[in-house]
Amino acid sequence: MTVSEVQERYPLAGGSGGVVGAALIGNIGQLAEPVSMVIFGITGDLARKKLLPAIYDLAHSGQLPADFDLVGFARETADAETQLRESVTAYARTPFDPEVWESLAERIHLVQGSFDDTAAFARLSARLAELDVRRGKSGNYVFYLSVPPSFFATVCDQLAICGLNRSAHGWRRVVVEKPFGHDLASSQSLGVALERVFPPSSIYRIDHYLGKETVQNILALRFANGMFEPLWNNRHIDHVQITMAESVGVTGRAGYYDGVGAARDVIQNHLLQLLALIAMEEPVAFDADGIAAEKIKVLSATELLGPLAETSARGQYGAGVENDVPVPGLADEAGFPADSATETFAALTVGIATRRWAGVPFFIRTGKRLARRTAEIAVTFTPPVHGSPASRAAAVSNVLVFRVQPDDGIELHIGAKRPGGGMHIQPVSLGMDFRSVFDPAPEAYERLICDVLRGDATLFPRREEVEWSWKVVDPLLDYWTGCGRPETYRSGSSGPASAERMLSRTARAWRTL
Ligand code: NAD
Repeated sequence: MTVSEVQERYPLAGGSGGVVGAALIGNIGQLAEPVSMVIFGITGDLARKKLLPAIYDLAHSGQLPADFDLVGFARETADAETQLRESVTAYARTPFDPEVWESLAERIHLVQGSFDDTAAFARLSARLAELDVRRGKSGNYVFYLSVPPSFFATVCDQLAICGLNRSAHGWRRVVVEKPFGHDLASSQSLGVALERVFPPSSIYRIDHYLGKETVQNILALRFANGMFEPLWNNRHIDHVQITMAESVGVTGRAGYYDGVGAARDVIQNHLLQLLALIAMEEPVAFDADGIAAEKIKVLSATELLGPLAETSARGQYGAGVENDVPVPGLADEAGFPADSATETFAALTVGIATRRWAGVPFFIRTGKRLARRTAEIAVTFTPPVHGSPASRAAAVSNVLVFRVQPDDGIELHIGAKRPGGGMHIQPVSLGMDFRSVFDPAPEAYERLICDVLRGDATLFPRREEVEWSWKVVDPLLDYWTGCGRPETYRSGSSGPASAERMLSRTARAWRTL
């Protein structure tokens, strides 16, 4: 490709010249149109810890539209304002600036009500209309459902009853948080309930992993560089490991987690999305339609590899340590029955039935109370097969690692000669740490909220992606239902012994946690 073809294909942020700085996905600097954003559940955990702080950070960096208003819908509004200020001071990325807060606080409006109260939605409608008139806005609304999933359909139906889901003048968008169902059937019902009220193009499903810079860099590394793509196939890649490990336990979220477990909570969404970005073909365009089309293709070709007794593993943390402090097992934690069968560790093997990936296993694992907090994708290349017996003995498997968190960056493991006599090869690592190269990146929620305001759906999984992912995970969940309680592993370890066996059977090993 010539430089001008590259520039045409990867348009430049801000329109400046040169290949450096080319934007594969969106331009965060473009301001959105005037808008009112409604957060349902504004006093809840997610809104306080992530959404409000992200909105404050956007205000701090001047990225909110001038005519932005935030309307909080809450059961109790009595001390909501104080709570919101406290959440910004505690969780925002940027320092608390009273001036920025005051100007944002003037734009925050509260509507008191319950989700089953149609009169409250009528009050919301009147408030939004009043803000439109006061600021001369044309009725662009974002509805952010930061509410328990059991209320998604109720809130959408109430919006429809009050006519808030459509407008002759402005646009309407709705944002929903995972979980998108607990299996394929419930996910399809949720899709139907949302699409009864909003057209598919107005529905933004948040998978906050996709807002992370390292995750977006998977596409940059693959498609903006020439050297990786020719090797990106079953002739050169031995296997791929995708890991998300947490050192903490369920920490007070028993109500949500019991009966959900690690596979539904993390693998069905975040980790299969990572797989899609690693394995997809190059999109025709780096926009919402282009990327979704390729992700859907790859997810629809993804299948569990069996036999499941050997290719998957499931565990529940028992007593042990969390950051060197003794902790009880899950079954002794408040909110969990002593015989809970909820898994806190899940691992599975999938294959992708395409010419590019046939025969390459993708090993996926996640767990709580593991030895270390990390999220990464490790692509292991096949070792060299030709050469003298001596060079074969010294051969190493190159591994390309995308570190998603913490310390996001990219590493390439190669073999190098150890100094001195003889030809002794030692694995060494070439590394790139994002924080040492680039300015601090916005938090995932800043990026995603900004994209919703601008109407850029590139980083939001579509309904088909969600449903194909359930089709991958559902058979494993069914299989586990008949397997009794998960195997216990020690808190602070690297997971259950069955997970180690799962890989050693294939003559491979998990990367050390
Ligand atoms: P939460 O229970 O802390 O908050 C829910 C909010 O909804 C509260 O403000 C509550 O008052 C309000 N609410 C509940 N029932 C209501 C009713 N009948 N009428 C009016 N208001 C009502 O939940 P959360 O943890 O903030 O999660 C919100 C959504 O985000 C859920 O879909 C959850 O699965 C998802 N999510 C949360 C997190 C997280 O870190 N908390 C992470 C990922 C996804």
